[in-house]
Amino acid sequence: MKFSVLLAPTLKESPSEAEVVSHKLLMRAGMIRKVAAGIYTFLPLGYNVIKKIERIVREEMGRAGAQEILMPVLQPADLWRITGRWDQFGPEMMRMADRNGREFALGPTAEEMITDLVKNEVKSYRQLPLTLYQIQVKFRDEIRPRFGLMRGREFIMKDAYSFNRTVEEMQQSYSDMYDAYSRIFSRCGLDYRAVDAATGLIGGKVSQEFMVLAESGESTILYCESCNYAASDEVATAPLAEPSTEAIKQSELVGTPGQKSVEQVATFLNIPEDKIVKTLIYKYGASELAGILVRGDRDVNDEKLSVALGTADFHLLAGAEWQEYPELIRGFVGPVGINSVRLIADKEISVMQNFVVGANRPDAHLINVNVGEDFQVEEWADIKTIKAGDKCPACGGALLSAKGIEVGQIFQLGTKYSAAMEAMYIDEDGALKPYIMGTYGIGISRTAAAAIEQNHDENGIIWPISIAPYEVSVVVLNYDKNEQKEIADRIYDGLSKKEVEVILDDRIESAGKKFADSDLIGFPVQVVIGNRTVKSGNVEVKIRATAERIEYRVDDAVDRISELVVKMRSMLQPGGPDAENAG
Ligand code: ATP
Ligand code: MG
Repeated sequence: MKFSVLLAPTLKESPSEAEVVSHKLLMRAGMIRKVAAGIYTFLPLGYNVIKKIERIVREEMGRAGAQEILMPVLQPADLWRITGRWDQFGPEMMRMADRNGREFALGPTAEEMITDLVKNEVKSYRQLPLTLYQIQVKFRDEIRPRFGLMRGREFIMKDAYSFNRTVEEMQQSYSDMYDAYSRIFSRCGLDYRAVDAATGLIGGKVSQEFMVLAESGESTILYCESCNYAASDEVATAPLAEPSTEAIKQSELVGTPGQKSVEQVATFLNIPEDKIVKTLIYKYGASELAGILVRGDRDVNDEKLSVALGTADFHLLAGAEWQEYPELIRGFVGPVGINSVRLIADKEISVMQNFVVGANRPDAHLINVNVGEDFQVEEWADIKTIKAGDKCPACGGALLSAKGIEVGQIFQLGTKYSAAMEAMYIDEDGALKPYIMGTYGIGISRTAAAAIEQNHDENGIIWPISIAPYEVSVVVLNYDKNEQKEIADRIYDGLSKKEVEVILDDRIESAGKKFADSDLIGFPVQVVIGNRTVKSGNVEVKIRATAERIEYRVDDAVDRISELVVKMRSMLQPGGPDAENAG
């Protein structure tokens, strides 16, 4: 490819709305352009990156025995109604009707569609196990589309689905996918970690997410340095402390005028925040109220709360809503004597004694309160957010926390979809049985963004060679000078013949602009040809990642550079020198 004809509109400044590095650099490097919030066009360089990630994904899916198909974006509402997800998905699902009023979704995922396909086409145990996948755009009307490709409303996803006879077989398919994902993200040059994850709207019990470690990540993971434990904060747990041996005291009403927050009450009563139990009032479902009890120094984790409540549709009681419930005194709500709300307590409360709660009257709290003595708890749940410093549930060591970008997730589904959709096969014994399923997603476009978050410097992107838009850029300082042009063309042709992906910067631009663009776009290897090359007979080669510079003789530059490229590629192959760092 010649740069002079390439559509790569690089920018000096990043758009003001771009908050994270990957968004800024994708825009500045002329790789994407925004169409509307969360909707982007990929320009040639950006699309090259996508195609290269897709190629790696296809190779590894193939190696794992999965077959590629392509399903439509438009999915009939009727399929989604069978499983109830037409309603459950809520406003995140993009919906439309055709000219006859038939409703459709722009697919956010495809469990229903594929289960319907397999139900119709696969009848016998002899055809199982079967894993199918597609790479297709998905649509989710995210509340907050942001961070460029990281959280789009239209994005590219690889989604795979396995159909098995037994749970053990399904676990084997899951484990094959786990291995394939590990190879995919290693080959993409990413520093990632697989963590235990929540199953949310997709369903099933066992799930893991693949997290690319990066400060800009929207996910939080907890992991243990002493053992292998790693989990997303949506499912991380910690063992409960030993119950204290403190003697149970009689509860007492104390005046706490104007002291509403945990911090205020702790200071006022001169007690630590973990001696307080706060009662948070949530509205959920059809206007029902829940009182959620957590230790004063703890936060509620929304994903855990949605599991406890049985719905993702909830919010903290806010503003004027309080006026509808005069019996609830804002800032002084507590579990004692309250009966208009559904009480759910975090399990941690069960090991607390003589704690402080709101007294359900203005300007007062109760001290020395105890479960069983002063109030009853019928629902215990795991609701709190685990923090760094909490104990590891596996080994008791101290947990650490890190930010991650979720690039993939795998689920052991079971029969959630096959049972609901009556998708059965005839087993060896002649009995009709629902398939046992697994589902496996990778955010292709998000992976491109995550790679930039992990690989960049102040000058631009540093692509891992496996997913770079081109492997080598040949920067000719004066392409209009014949001697330089002749050398550059020779090297460009030679590298092309050796199947090195090379771009020739033949633009009539300043050297500074060309170097800046090459660094910004992030070609892994830069070959510089100028007057000096003509005089000395040497070309200079710069490695983008390390800024290392090497000189080669013009005469054998093609061989040396292609050897260098082959070596750089092999570093990212599973089993290559970097393999032990994976996972
Ligand atoms: P998130 O929690 O980030 O919203 P999710 O758990 O809802 O993601 P999945 O249903 O697991 O997403 O989808 C599979 C993969 O698709 C994710 O691991 C992620 O890489 C990608 N993905 C999901 N939503 C988006 C989005 N809005 N933009 C880009 N990629 C996305
Ligand atoms: Mg997910």
